[in-house]
Amino acid sequence: MISGKTKLAGFFASPASHSLSPMMHNTSFEACGVDAIYLAFDVDQESLEQAVASIRTFSMLGVNVSMPNKTAVIDYLDELSPEAKLIGAVNTIVNREGRLTGYNTDGMGFVRSVKETGHSIENRKITVLGAGGAAKAIIVQMALEGAREIVVYKRKNATFLSLKSYFDQVAAQTGCLIRVWDYADEGQLGKDLSSSDVLVNATDIGMGTKKDSLPIANVGLLHADLAVFDLIYSPKETRLLQEAKKIGAKGYNGLGMLIHQGAIAFELWTQKEMPVQLVREKIEGR
Ligand code: NAP
Repeated sequence: MISGKTKLAGFFASPASHSLSPMMHNTSFEACGVDAIYLAFDVDQESLEQAVASIRTFSMLGVNVSMPNKTAVIDYLDELSPEAKLIGAVNTIVNREGRLTGYNTDGMGFVRSVKETGHSIENRKITVLGAGGAAKAIIVQMALEGAREIVVYKRKNATFLSLKSYFDQVAAQTGCLIRVWDYADEGQLGKDLSSSDVLVNATDIGMGTKKDSLPIANVGLLHADLAVFDLIYSPKETRLLQEAKKIGAKGYNGLGMLIHQGAIAFELWTQKEMPVQLVREKIEGR
């Protein structure tokens, strides 16, 4: 029941209406007895400053932030968590008596989802396909969590060199070995995969108009000891995951990451644990 004391949390993105976050957080507020509601607001870069000011005006618990605001929002915050600083992007804002702190729970959510499957990041070699926003978040977090080596495959286009120098800085600040290779270098990819414990698809190859495509041209490079994580959660099983299954490798979609990035935001706002199993059932039963 909404009352005069009900607190507000929200989602600032454009478009915003497709988001599963209202379902995740409202289910959790209700299950945990938290007097709060979560709404999605269409906020673009033009309305972002005003929208962030309203977090203070309305004493909101905080918000999640997504495209196109994850980097631009940094200018309007009071402080950043260490991982948000390193990633250069924010997906969660926490309001502590008017002081706004930006966090990035995407990478932490991914690492939690890996641990939930019984796999580990610490001391492991991980190959990551793609170097966009999601890849940066998970690579920073895996480096902070003690990965032994992270190998990133990125197209050799206009952003290759700047991404390479960005990952050099992350490596220097975390002490993790991070190398960046041309996505087209199949020979190198074969060598890296043969000695990798974990493969992550952080491209959008496997969803939308690319749903029938594979992020690896030669699936013969996969092996049964690889744990394959696809950040895509719709479709539930991408072609990459189907191929992994065929050779006996374990494969997981991005639903775990989605739920756990939300669970960490929920904990930051309420100091309560999100009922992740209930949330998973709700999303899967949609
Ligand atoms: P993004 O910033 O646009 O990055 C996409 C990356 O994919 C870029 O590095 C891009 O390469 C690469 N790429 C695209 N097409 C390619 C191709 N044909 N060959 C090689 N590389 C290609 O997107 P994002 O936000 O990081 O999202 C990436 C994926 O993660 C999406 O599928 C998204 O749905 C998923 N995701 C899942 C969650 C979750 O909670 N499960 C959260 C966030 C994102 P260039 O750099 O060369 O352009």
